[in-house]
Amino acid sequence: MTTAYQHLYINGQWTAPNSDRQIRVVNPANGELFATVPSADHHDIDAALHAAKEAFASWSATTAAYRAGLIHAIADGMEARKDELIDAVIGSMGCPIALADELQVQGSIDAFRSFAELAGHMDDSETFDNYITVKEPVGVCVLINPWNYPLSQLVGKLGPALAAGCTVILKPAEQTPVQDLILADIIHNAGVPAGVVNVLTAVGADIGEYLCSHKDVDMVSFTGSTVAGIKVAQAAAPGVKRVCQELGGKSPYIIAPGADLAAAVRYGVEDVMINAGQTCCALTRMLVPAGQLEAAERIAAEVAAEWQPGNPRHPDTMMGPLSSHAQQSRVQQYIELGINEGARLVCGNEPLDAALSDGAYVAPTIFSAVTNTMTIAREEIFGPVLCIMPYDTLEEAITIANDTPYGLSSGVFAKDADEAKQIARRIRAGQCYIQGALFNTDAPFGGYKQSGNGREWGLTGLHEYTETKALII
Ligand code: NAD
Repeated sequence: MTTAYQHLYINGQWTAPNSDRQIRVVNPANGELFATVPSADHHDIDAALHAAKEAFASWSATTAAYRAGLIHAIADGMEARKDELIDAVIGSMGCPIALADELQVQGSIDAFRSFAELAGHMDDSETFDNYITVKEPVGVCVLINPWNYPLSQLVGKLGPALAAGCTVILKPAEQTPVQDLILADIIHNAGVPAGVVNVLTAVGADIGEYLCSHKDVDMVSFTGSTVAGIKVAQAAAPGVKRVCQELGGKSPYIIAPGADLAAAVRYGVEDVMINAGQTCCALTRMLVPAGQLEAAERIAAEVAAEWQPGNPRHPDTMMGPLSSHAQQSRVQQYIELGINEGARLVCGNEPLDAALSDGAYVAPTIFSAVTNTMTIAREEIFGPVLCIMPYDTLEEAITIANDTPYGLSSGVFAKDADEAKQIARRIRAGQCYIQGALFNTDAPFGGYKQSGNGREWGLTGLHEYTETKALII
């Protein structure tokens, strides 16, 4: 059944959009229409930003305890409407139900609550010999998100913005706008004052420049592709707005000599296959000692076989479709390119079950003998495609790991954590996962180089939404 959303959420009210243009949200599991949402235009942007600017004075003056209470109230509302949020994620981007429940929705609710605990840090001050520093909210923030973890990325921006005392415009990806509209309703019912949170569904490429250059915006927090992130920064630059960029990646994963190969390869394959490979920090370049390449390929193929695509609404499905048919054809083109570039296809590129033919499915795909000059090793594929790359010495592995325009994440599996940590310190990336560690929403997350300049999550993430003021005594 298709749900037709008719309104934007502006200044505490469900507001008819200025234009009657609609955005179609297509279910990538079967190609059917899942929802339609309004397409906000410049008039709607002006109204939302005016509301956010007006609300800032009183909202930023509220106590941290009050804001923490509202964050918990919103989280309670999310718990109560968890099934709707799960359905939105499955229906718009094809995430399997188990993952949508545990990671995309429950994980996001838990992470959102953690910002209630951090709100009190807005009262921290640091005293030096003749001055004191305090933190203040940065102002009106535009929060632009992609489609791959739509609720989690929303929460990673909205949580710290509210905790800090900022007012916001939420701009979800056009492919996955529904969870933001549900959240707006939850926020409304939780009693968040009018104008503090506004939701504009729109096509980013159409309204991005107007939105990000608007005089009433103090900060843009953008998560998405490096290409769009650059456009956002260019639009914001003349107004000297703060821009926090969380962009793409092509993250290396060094399996050092002496590591438990079976455990290390399993971890690496699963890391790439989860969410059908649509994870910005996925460890997509697996570096393996040359003498262990064949063994690594064998293990990788065995693990990949456990990740056969299926209907995302089936509880046992581990991999659903890609989030759109456009993404499916993009990934398929990279697979063909890898074959043409001479990479060895270990598994993937095989015909799928006929029952999946209407969906945007791609089989788990593993290339080996990949060199770092191949396009499949340099560009972000954003699908279930892993590149295994042999190396002769650890020095060479570190050089290959750093030979990328990106620097979002990395991983090291060595004989023990001490050795892995030493290797990790030599990789130019914002995170390094040691010995099979999992994502941690308390730890700062963000990129070096073309992966961005921001840090999200935890106390560092809260500080992104603050200005530092010095009181000179
Ligand atoms: P995208 O850049 O096409 O879109 C992301 C968001 O930006 C969407 O909301 C879109 O509407 C908006 N947008 C597009 N053009 C814009 C413009 N000119 N001005 C303003 N907004 C604009 O990216 P995508 O395809 O939705 O997401 C995939 C990308 O996101 C991948 O590159 C992935 O690595 C990256 N990503 C990064 C992180 C991170 O934290 N570093 C997390 C998730 C995804």
